[in-house]
This record gives sequence, structure tokens and C-alpha cells, in this order.
Amino acid sequence: MEYIKSHIRDVQDFPSKGILFKDLTTAFKDPRALHIIGWDLSQMYRDKGVTKVVGIESRGFIGGSILAYEIGAGFVPARKPGKLPADTIREEYAKEYGTDVIEIHRDAITPDDIVVLHDDVLATGGTMAAAYKLVKSLNPKKIYINFIIELSALNGRANLPEDAEVTSLIVY
Ligand code: AMP
Repeated sequence: MEYIKSHIRDVQDFPSKGILFKDLTTAFKDPRALHIIGWDLSQMYRDKGVTKVVGIESRGFIGGSILAYEIGAGFVPARKPGKLPADTIREEYAKEYGTDVIEIHRDAITPDDIVVLHDDVLATGGTMAAAYKLVKSLNPKKIYINFIIELSALNGRANLPEDAEVTSLIVY
């Protein structure tokens, strides 16, 4: 874990003033750190019968794909509006200024699925809460929520549904 931590770069005032951005590109580009992230994520979900990993655009695509591959699940992208080509469902959610929208293909999840929702960082939890609602509306058997990094000072867990099991590899 210390090895991964030492490869996460802190960028002050990105994307706007006052934000300390946790940059995982420096961990992803390091072969050993990437391997450890993939291994540690997969150990959390290996025996849970997971059939689909939903990765949130765009930084959630990286860890989400690796996790899906490692545990033998399929990968589903949750994307910004207008990016997915076929029939989609959407969820609108509040951001600091205005609203945002997240979409997935309507046929991406079925009631037989056991799903892990994955994103790189849990900040306020707004994005993940919207993704959860979206996936929940497709009635899978179970939904887990997973992050590589959790920023505990922002208390994002409070915005996530109580019945969801949430795990994070690294908590700051
Ligand atoms: P949230 O506030 O939890 O909805 O975060 C929205 C998205 O922004 C997440 O998908 C994160 O990838 C990203 N994000 C928010 N805050 C940070 C941060 N301090 N460092 C890195 N990524 C962040």
C-alpha cells in the first residue's frame, strides 16, 4: 500500500483553486503500482460472484477494466451524456455549480447481475450516488461500490446509499 501511495501525485489547485487533486496517472504509469492496484482490487471482489464492473467516465475506466478482467467479470462504461451510441438511461445530479448527467446503456445490466461500481476517487460522492441510482433502476441482484482513493474529510460516504457495501483501497 505504501508503494501505491508513494506513486500518487498531489496537485494543488487543480482543476480549480482550493482543490488538492489526487493524481493517479503517476501510479498507473508505474508497472508495479499498476499491478498492485489490480491485484488488491481483485482480492476484494474475487469470491463475490460479480458479473459486471461499471466504470465511471473517465478515470474509473482504468481500474474498472483491470478489476473486471482479473475477476472474470464484464465491463460496462457509465458515461457523460451523448457518448453512448445505443439506447441509454440517464440520471441527473447536482454539482457545486449547476447539474451533470451520467448515462449507461439500458441493456448493460440485467436482473441476474451482481455489480461493482468503480471510480478512482470518492470526493463528495455525488457522481457515485447518481451511478448507483442508475444501476439500481435496472434491478441487479446486488450492487457493491469501490474506489481506489477515498477522501474521508469530504464525507462522501454520507451521500452513498446505506445498503451499499463500500470499499476503498486507500483512505486519506
Ligand atoms: P464526487 O465529488 O465524489 O462526485 O467526485 C467527482 C469526480 O471527480 C470523481 O469521479 C473523481 O474522479 C473526481 N475528483 C473529485 N475530487 C477529486 C480530487 N480531490 N482528486 C482527484 N479526483 C477528484
